[in-house]
Amino acid sequence: MRNFTFIKAQDLEEVSQLLFAHHEHSCILAGGTDLLVQLHEKSKRWAELDVVIDLHPFQAELSQIEDIGSALRIGTLCTHTEIERSFLVNRYLPLLSKACSVVGSPQIRNMGTVGGAVCNASPASDPLPPLIAAGAELAIHGCGYRRKALLSDFYDDMGMPKLEPGEFVTAFEVRKLQPSERSSFVKLGRRKALAISRLTVAVILDFQKDGTIREAAVVPGCVGRRVKRYRQAELMLCGQRPSEALIASAAAQVTEQMLAENGRRWSSAYKEPALTALVERALNSASYGAEDRL
Ligand SMILES: Cc1cc2nc3c(=O)[nH]c(=O)nc-3n(C[C@H](O)[C@H](O)[C@H](O)COP(=O)(O)OP(=O)(O)OC[C@H]3O[C@@H](n4cnc5c(N)ncnc54)[C@H](O)[C@@H]3O)c2cc1C
Repeated sequence: MRNFTFIKAQDLEEVSQLLFAHHEHSCILAGGTDLLVQLHEKSKRWAELDVVIDLHPFQAELSQIEDIGSALRIGTLCTHTEIERSFLVNRYLPLLSKACSVVGSPQIRNMGTVGGAVCNASPASDPLPPLIAAGAELAIHGCGYRRKALLSDFYDDMGMPKLEPGEFVTAFEVRKLQPSERSSFVKLGRRKALAISRLTVAVILDFQKDGTIREAAVVPGCVGRRVKRYRQAELMLCGQRPSEALIASAAAQVTEQMLAENGRRWSSAYKEPALTALVERALNSASYGAEDRL
């Protein structure tokens, strides 16, 4: 384990001041499920770390899930368990609730937070595809200011969070799904328990009254450095009624784009059919309400 100074700040402004003063030598501690493992393994990412700032003094403020009209505001310190069990998330963002329900184990879900999942920036993070599919925004606190950013713009080309010195995340604002929208989240893990995802897919389909798809969001996880919407497949779905053939073509398109962008790797022989099958399953589930098995 690395040596570092552990600080509990008095208020959120002091957190920003400390991050600014110790830029490149400091980080936030949320649930610690990623950070402590990385520190224990002496990850190169933290080779220069001197200061760890604990967010828990602000738990009450940063663990709320609120209905703010057309969106939900989810505090950065909300754990996966809190999100999974939230009435509001279940009602308005069922795909996020499902994603949080399959993170790791009960212990990991009780400690790990949504802010940590997003800021750790792993493309294998389960809540990321649903948040990106729903167009989530981040609330960011900096030295003397607050700003918002789209989660889809939050990572640089290397897949690292775009936070300026002094900045940290306080909450996520995620639009509520409308009655005309149906969603799904499916995950393929290595084992049933404690499984970091091998592949995930989040889907949101917005249906017109005549049964055609008005808008689609298709977001695979674990397929590249950055989690993002697969727009070509989405466009294939728009204006069409779901059918076996349409779903098969859209799924094949996602896999084609994954291979075109990431190239063939040792895992492609496995990922190619698995991703096609998973996208088909997610689209079937969102289209027909078929049960999306894990
Ligand atoms: C055994 C095991 C199994 C796991 N299984 C899964 C799984 O199945 N699915 C899955 O998605 N994840 C899994 N994880 C990963 C992990 O639990 C999640 O990513 C978790 O949500 C991280 O949240 P945390 O609060 O613990 O983050 P922390 O470890 O506290 O922080 C992670 C990173 O984010 C930064 N950070 C945290 N909060 C903020 C903030 N508000 N602003 C700016 N930076 C911040 C920290 O500085 C650190 O760099 C697993 C982890 C373990 C150890």
